[in-house]
Amino acid sequence: MPLSTVLKTPLTGEYTQPTGLWINNEWVEGVDKKTFEVINPATEEVICSVSEATEKDVDIAVKAARKAFNGVWKTTTPQQRGIYLTNLADLIEKNSDLLAAVESLDNGKSISMARGDVKAVAGCIRYYGGWADKIEGKTIDIDPQSFHYTRQEPIGVCGQIIPWNFPLLMLAWKIGPALATGNTIVMKTAEQTPLSALVFANLVKEAGFPAGVLNIISGLGKVAGAAIASHMDIDKVAFTGSTPVGRAIMKAAASSNLKKVTLELGGKSPNIVFDDADIEQAISWVNFGIYYNHGQCCCAGSRVYVQEGIYDKFIAAFKKRAEENHVGDPFDEKTFQGPQVSQLQYDRIMSYIEHGKESGATVLTGGGRHGDKGYFIQPTIFSDVTADMKIMKEEIFGPVAAIAKFKTEEEVVHLANDSAYGLAAAIHTGDLNTAIRVSNSLHAGTVWVNSYNLLHHQLPFGGYKESGIGRELGEAALANYTQTKSVAIRLGGALF
Ligand code: ADP
Repeated sequence: MPLSTVLKTPLTGEYTQPTGLWINNEWVEGVDKKTFEVINPATEEVICSVSEATEKDVDIAVKAARKAFNGVWKTTTPQQRGIYLTNLADLIEKNSDLLAAVESLDNGKSISMARGDVKAVAGCIRYYGGWADKIEGKTIDIDPQSFHYTRQEPIGVCGQIIPWNFPLLMLAWKIGPALATGNTIVMKTAEQTPLSALVFANLVKEAGFPAGVLNIISGLGKVAGAAIASHMDIDKVAFTGSTPVGRAIMKAAASSNLKKVTLELGGKSPNIVFDDADIEQAISWVNFGIYYNHGQCCCAGSRVYVQEGIYDKFIAAFKKRAEENHVGDPFDEKTFQGPQVSQLQYDRIMSYIEHGKESGATVLTGGGRHGDKGYFIQPTIFSDVTADMKIMKEEIFGPVAAIAKFKTEEEVVHLANDSAYGLAAAIHTGDLNTAIRVSNSLHAGTVWVNSYNLLHHQLPFGGYKESGIGRELGEAALANYTQTKSVAIRLGGALF
């Protein structure tokens, strides 16, 4: 099959879409010449087909990454690694319209949000470029007869498996710290959204990265993803996606070569509105918390707890606000919410909505399909949701908010923490003491106060409990990609 095809977006007109596997700084076909179709979620039509990596292709990519790790990448100075990353950030900015347009085409996210993602991608890569020559060990003074120091060494060949909700951003969060610290990579994108990463791959060589340092392959989770998780020559696997797949990856790592594992998994994050909150502001943030990226966020604020004094006023105003969200064509500049990513996700979300209706929760707004083509779902709010209902407990990953009323701070802290997940949480209050006290009590890796979804590459992000292992972003992410070596030098004199 050809290694590229000409596609068109409303923003860019025609462009050349790579469709092969990016291995060793070259476009190649898969060994078995398999392909899979990529669907436009706004129209349900096939966009194109791309090469599908099998176990054999994973193996070829791992060999390329191993050769680069042991060779050219080992002799590349940290400063030079930083220069490659900042070159890449410049190229992302230069190609930002194309990257954003391809992201919208393939994922269905609104073009304004795709532009925001691409800006964040460049910011993240530039930030980790800055870290490359600041990876330092320590000297440790133990006794005058010896000299001890530590080195922060790269882990080796890293397998990285990313989801479809933020295809480029998740790629950036993963490759930034891994490359800055001197690792090499085999990256597998999600089968629903391979296209933007393939456009991105063209920039890797242009930025100067040597062959084999960053390999990007499209493939299915059960085939290429599973091959990465169980590969005997991958030293570390980093995964973002659902909790069940995270468990499977950890098991595969354990039963193969005990590769290091970091996981960023699901969530069911509480968003708490106290009586003393600025209600207009709180509604904006609750709306943004659940409907941003069509609810397809691991940290979506999907459990909304509102204190009894403002409950009625809040739900009336939130309903009005949700109904004003513009749902439609991702390429329309006014659009806030595009389609869900796939038929499978659409069906999953609709079955949760049906379940919510059957279990007696009130549909305040939405609850159905939007339009007659594409995987669009109306922004949906359930009120009177009780703690035992599935829609309050399980991750829906769609534009569905579940609201419940609470009386006291103690009660809401208990409700908020009564979850297997612990990715994020938010509090809306006018009282600083409440904000700090409740933030300290919540079991979550991130707590937003009077805001939501404020993520930044300088700030660590990750989960408590079943929401994950390890932290992405910030300085914290460097620890995922380095291992400490202690060196002890005897300066002289016999020990005994
Ligand atoms: P979702 O259910 O939201 O699609 P997944 O957790 O299934 O999310 O997918 C996230 C990523 O994990 C994708 O790149 C997918 O291909 C990959 N994946 C799915 N199943 C497996 C598996 N068994 N082993 C490794 N990777 C997998």
